[in-house]
Amino acid sequence: MLTNFLVIGSGISGLNFALNAAKKGKVLIVTKKKIIDTSTNYAQGGIAAVLDKTDDIKQHVKDTLETGAYHNNKKAVEFMVKNSTSAVHRLMDLGVKFAKENGELKLTQEGGHHHRRIAYVGDYTGKEIERILVKRVKDNKNITILEDAFALKLITKTKACFGAQIIHKNKIKTILANQTIIATGGIGQLYEFTTNPPISTGDGIALGVSAGCKTDDLEFIQFHPTALETNSYPRFLVSETVRGEGAKLINSKGEYFMETLHPLKDLAPRDIVAREIYAQMKNGPVFLDCTTKCTKHSAKFLKNRFPQIYKQLLKDGYKMEKDLIPVTPAAHYICGGIVTDLYGRTGIKNLFAFGEVTCTGVHGANRLASNSLLEALVFSNQIIKKLKKSATKFDDKISSPKLLPKNSPTTKLALHLKQQIKHLMWQYAGIIRNRSLIKKEAIPQMQKILTKLFQLSQNKILTNQTLTETENMAKVGILILQAAYHRQKSLGCHFVD
Ligand SMILES: Cc1cc2nc3c(=O)[nH]c(=O)nc-3n(C[C@H](O)[C@H](O)[C@H](O)COP(=O)(O)OP(=O)(O)OC[C@H]3O[C@@H](n4cnc5c(N)ncnc54)[C@H](O)[C@@H]3O)c2cc1C
Repeated sequence: MLTNFLVIGSGISGLNFALNAAKKGKVLIVTKKKIIDTSTNYAQGGIAAVLDKTDDIKQHVKDTLETGAYHNNKKAVEFMVKNSTSAVHRLMDLGVKFAKENGELKLTQEGGHHHRRIAYVGDYTGKEIERILVKRVKDNKNITILEDAFALKLITKTKACFGAQIIHKNKIKTILANQTIIATGGIGQLYEFTTNPPISTGDGIALGVSAGCKTDDLEFIQFHPTALETNSYPRFLVSETVRGEGAKLINSKGEYFMETLHPLKDLAPRDIVAREIYAQMKNGPVFLDCTTKCTKHSAKFLKNRFPQIYKQLLKDGYKMEKDLIPVTPAAHYICGGIVTDLYGRTGIKNLFAFGEVTCTGVHGANRLASNSLLEALVFSNQIIKKLKKSATKFDDKISSPKLLPKNSPTTKLALHLKQQIKHLMWQYAGIIRNRSLIKKEAIPQMQKILTKLFQLSQNKILTNQTLTETENMAKVGILILQAAYHRQKSLGCHFVD
């Protein structure tokens, strides 16, 4: 199969890139589950941008740098924020209807922001963005979508990419492309407790590294402070915008403990709030108080403003207006990834990356809330100005592994190893880390898991999606652990004891 642009992933970055690229050539999107199975579809809070007359670029840049512990690439931050207004307007032009009042965008606030600057659609912003982008992509004659198509391996030679091998309909297929785009999202599934959907297994980082891409900032994993404490998997997120509308964290003694801890109180940066909840949980459960008494908002307001959250909490037995909601931190977002420049270039010819899989440098050591949808959008808008069509010629023989049945004993073993990886990562690369344990315990144990996986695949002769995903998780796990070990001092969301 031949295409001009091969896009791996159907979240905001992949779909938005595809729409831009379709103006220049044929686009093929491969996505490993159904098209809407993305983190994008889960995003609740909204998208940050300079949209209010009293806000300005400088302040949004300052908030991003401050939250990122000044570890950010300032040039990339300025670039993103300067392009934020037009990026949100582009979404509106495509059909996304953000909340408005008297014709003006209604804006909300989240942790680390010193201004209300987050455009939203109820508490299901990502779902609405995904719905509109999918609609536009499906209407576009230059774009073809392959669902249940798993990118197994990139086809590379002498620091250039020529496409990918995929598993589709129980066959291994080769797709040759002029440009290949990694838009595979995050890594939350490496952790026992996460808000991320099942697709977030770090495949893109593993694909990129195998192709020779550089990675950076992998140790900066953001833990969202307020996932609902239940047995559900992934954990349901109670968006920070709930605190943006006045809800407060409260401990088992009835103390609003964030009040005295940080000038921004409950809206302090996520790493600070997550760590404090983690510490408080040693003495008992922590709750989010969104009751009418605390927020002064009526039950009607809460129901209308947070329809999805209200419904889910009700299912779990909680009424927002009168019950305290038990919350706990969960792995949420990776700030680092494949190193890219302002145009998504990876350093491998004809290979680009966008969205959560990248390290553009905008997030530094900690992501400012609602900057991720923005980053994915702004950068995937930009590249098209620099794209050149080059002929794809790849005459080398491409070897294919043999496909294992989905329910083989090997697959079951791989699933078992997946659980071990999640447990290891939560224990050693979680909210509070110990470098000596990472070196002595976590890295050797993860390496053992990887060796077992190589044995199961008979050194990559046999494979299937589960086996490759698990291998990807172990490989990316080792990279995260190594990065966490090498960062000696606490910074942003990397915290060492
Ligand atoms: C619960 C939750 C709430 C969030 N809320 C917000 C918010 O309010 N604001 C904000 O800015 N950010 C938020 N985020 C973060 C944000 O949603 C993500 O960072 C962003 O959507 C990532 O977009 P993406 O295009 O990079 O990846 P994704 O949207 O995750 O898409 C990745 C795609 O890659 C595909 N894929 C992966 N591996 C392969 C493979 N091997 N082969 C083929 N396809 C593959 C997946 O199937 C999927 O289609 C939230 C995240 C979560 C989980």
